[in-house]
Amino acid sequence: MVRVRGLRKSFGGHVVLDGVDLDVREGEVTVLLGPSGSGKSTLLRCVNHLEKPDGGFVELGGEIVGYRASGGRLHELRPRHIVRQRSRIGMVFQQFNLFPHLTVIENVTEAPVSVRGTPRKRAAEHARELLARVGLAGREDAYPRQLSGGQQQRVAIARALAMEPRLMLFDEPTSALDPELVGEVLAVVRDLALSGMTMIVVTHEIGFAREVADTVVFLDGGRVVESGPPEVVLTAPRHERARAFFAAVL
Ligand code: ADP
Ligand code: MG
Repeated sequence: MVRVRGLRKSFGGHVVLDGVDLDVREGEVTVLLGPSGSGKSTLLRCVNHLEKPDGGFVELGGEIVGYRASGGRLHELRPRHIVRQRSRIGMVFQQFNLFPHLTVIENVTEAPVSVRGTPRKRAAEHARELLARVGLAGREDAYPRQLSGGQQQRVAIARALAMEPRLMLFDEPTSALDPELVGEVLAVVRDLALSGMTMIVVTHEIGFAREVADTVVFLDGGRVVESGPPEVVLTAPRHERARAFFAAVL
C-alpha cells in the first residue's frame, strides 16, 4: 500500500531524510523507531503531503504521491490528486489537536460533513459507532477540556477514522500522556491493528512494537539503519546505534 523510494528532504542545507526506502503492505503495521531528530515525523509528513520531498517518491496504493525523480526531473502531482490521496490517510499527532470549541461528537463529524458532504445525521450515527469503538460511548456531548489526555487522544483517533482512511499514521500518540493513560490509547491502536488497518506508528513503546508490529524500522540520521520483523530487529539489532537506543528506551 505504501512504497517509499530514495526519499530525500533537507531544511536549509540540513539533510533530514537521506534516501529512505520503506514498504508497507496492506493490513500490516510498521513501527518506526529512532532517536529524536532522526526524521521520523518528516517521513510521516512526506507520506501525508504535509511536506514536499526534495527527491525520491512516495507511492500509495499504486498511485504516486508527491514527487517522483525520473531522469533527474521532479514531477509534481496535481493538487486534486493530492487532495484525494490525503483524504484516504488518517493522522494522529502527539498533541491531540482537537477543536476546543466543539463537542466530542462535533469534532468527529466535522470533516465528514464539511469536507466530504456527508449528511449530518449519517455522520453522527457513524461517529457514535466510532466513539463506542474507542471506549467513549456516553461522552459525545463533552468538550475536550472536560476529558483526560487519554480520552482526548481516543477522540482524535475516532475523528481520523471518521474519514474512512485506508492508511493510518500515528506520530508518537502517547508521548504527551501521563504514564497511567498510555495503556488505554495503545489498546485502541492495538485493536485497530487487529482489525486489519494498515498503519505506520512512530512510538518509543518497545513493548507495543514487539507485540503489534509486522515490521520494525529504525531510523537514524535520516537513514533506515535496521528493518525487519520485531523479533529480529528488537532482539538482535545489527547496528550499535540501534542496540544503544533499544537499551536506553527499554
Ligand atoms: P523526529 O520526528 O525523528 O524527532 P523530525 O522529522 O521531527 O525528527 O526532525 C528531523 C530534523 O529536521 C530535526 O533536526 C528538526 O529540527 C528538523 N526539522 C523538521 N521540520 C523542520 C522544519 N519545518 N524546518 C526546519 N527544520 C525542520
Ligand atoms: Mg517527531
